[in-house]
Amino acid sequence: MKNAILSELFNQMADIMEILGEDRFRISTYRKVARIIGDTPADIEVLLATGELAKIPGVGKSSLAKIEQFIKTGTITAHKQLLTKIPPKLLELLAIPGIGPKGVKAVYEELKVKSIADLKRAIKAGSFARLPGFGDKKAAVIARGIAFLEKSTGRIRLDQALEAAYLVTDFLRELSGTGRIQTAGSLRRRAETIGDVDILVAAGKGKQIVQAFTGAGFVQEVLAAGPTKGSAIIQTETAPIHVDVRVVPAESFGAAAQYFTGSKQHNVRLREIAVKAKLKLNEYGLFKADKMIAGPVEEEIYQKLCLDYIDPLLREDRGEVEAAKSRCLPKLITVEDIKADFHVHTNASDGNCDASDLAQAAKDAGYKYICITDHSRSSAIANGLSPERLAQQIKQIRKLNEKLKGVTLLAGSEVDILANGSLDFDDKLLAELDFVIAAIHSGLAGSREKVTTRTLKAMDNPYVNCIAHPTGRLIGQREPMDIDIAAVIKHAAQTHTAFEVNANPWRLDLKDTHCRMAIETGVKLAIGTDAHSVAGLALMGFGVATAARGWATKADILNTLSVAKIRSWLKSKRP
Ligand SMILES: [Zn+2]
Ligand SMILES: [Zn+2]
Repeated sequence: MKNAILSELFNQMADIMEILGEDRFRISTYRKVARIIGDTPADIEVLLATGELAKIPGVGKSSLAKIEQFIKTGTITAHKQLLTKIPPKLLELLAIPGIGPKGVKAVYEELKVKSIADLKRAIKAGSFARLPGFGDKKAAVIARGIAFLEKSTGRIRLDQALEAAYLVTDFLRELSGTGRIQTAGSLRRRAETIGDVDILVAAGKGKQIVQAFTGAGFVQEVLAAGPTKGSAIIQTETAPIHVDVRVVPAESFGAAAQYFTGSKQHNVRLREIAVKAKLKLNEYGLFKADKMIAGPVEEEIYQKLCLDYIDPLLREDRGEVEAAKSRCLPKLITVEDIKADFHVHTNASDGNCDASDLAQAAKDAGYKYICITDHSRSSAIANGLSPERLAQQIKQIRKLNEKLKGVTLLAGSEVDILANGSLDFDDKLLAELDFVIAAIHSGLAGSREKVTTRTLKAMDNPYVNCIAHPTGRLIGQREPMDIDIAAVIKHAAQTHTAFEVNANPWRLDLKDTHCRMAIETGVKLAIGTDAHSVAGLALMGFGVATAARGWATKADILNTLSVAKIRSWLKSKRP
């Protein structure tokens, strides 16, 4: 599907026009088209061919012509022309958190800034802070943003890595002579960001497999093509991604999977154990003198080292080797244990489907219940609900439940935590809800004391069951709030409040290590996809993996409870 690239192109045209100070109406038209293309689950090419696209309000004739040109030629003339009107490196500034097209326009026009390097100099020289409306505070925010950007380049999100892995594994599976295929590395461990994607394939004829891979249509650039390993940059819908394919003989497949999954620290520990037992462990197998005693099957490597099998999600050298030795590894939560989603939006706020669509989708996913949690009034850009609209929605949900079979809707709200720590709705209205998930959506750059106090105070409210995306981070885009995580975890335990594990791969918030802190303190976790569409429910696996990386078992996760049990858990905090 070309949707993502096309949406990006329209957004980029809007960015450039905004920087150049062009017509605001046209800019907002382009943004709207970008959003429509980005949001639709259907293939844009199909929508165009069937004439459906022309029927969507907001997609005018000139936009249609551009989309058609892109599908036919892979480029848009108007986009190319716009690019010639600005310095080539100027758009890189837009990746800096906190600057935006307006900021880029200002520094370009007033300070002749043409690149990130220019901007760094302008901040250092103080000319940036002297711009009207900017000041020292803004300069500090942008300087931090640049540092963050420089630190985070090269890492991709889990969903991007998975997309690349699916593309390549599907391709390899079709080749003749390939056996087992396994993703390895940080992707298999479901780390929150991935450097490059590692894929192992069992096969005899290494060179042929490598040649087929590096010659595949999705390959943008070949980095290396040897007898057993091919490295290439491949083009996915969202980003160019570095993928390594290794061809491994079947008798070493388990050992290779173990070795290339890592982490490095985990493997160091395993090799130490092997050495102590007078064995040798490498990517080809586990050897006693010259004899291979394990290799084809990964589980046998652990078994022969007198360890319980360690799930890849735990292989970080955070105590899992000791636990495997003493046979007390946790039985990790899996997607099969999940009976509910605790965070979804409908078209009453900024979602794109209604509660009954979500109920049906939840049922199809095998869930028993789902919490409808639209935004509250202070989240105005997300079309947050007024008290009246929420009261109405609660009624609708109760009515819908009378008709639904096999799945239950819980009436909830993602209610904003205001600047002073109070909530966006009064207690009387909150008491009508089944589930209240409170969230900070503004003032995320506030001081440690401020954001911590806001969160602590929200947990004191007897109707707040859970804190949504507790640190507010957006991976690769926005740093987490400077929140005292230990203090809020402790307070959650004291106030019978759960923490969300937001499953969106941009968030994964709480993160793995914080999940573990929460669990060890006795705090329950509620995994929510924060879905804004039916398709969004499929993100659940990312949240489950993140919780499992924090050593979560079924007992730690609220999503495993039945409707009756969750109702009584939720009520137990109330007066
Ligand atoms: Zn939110
Ligand atoms: Zn949300």
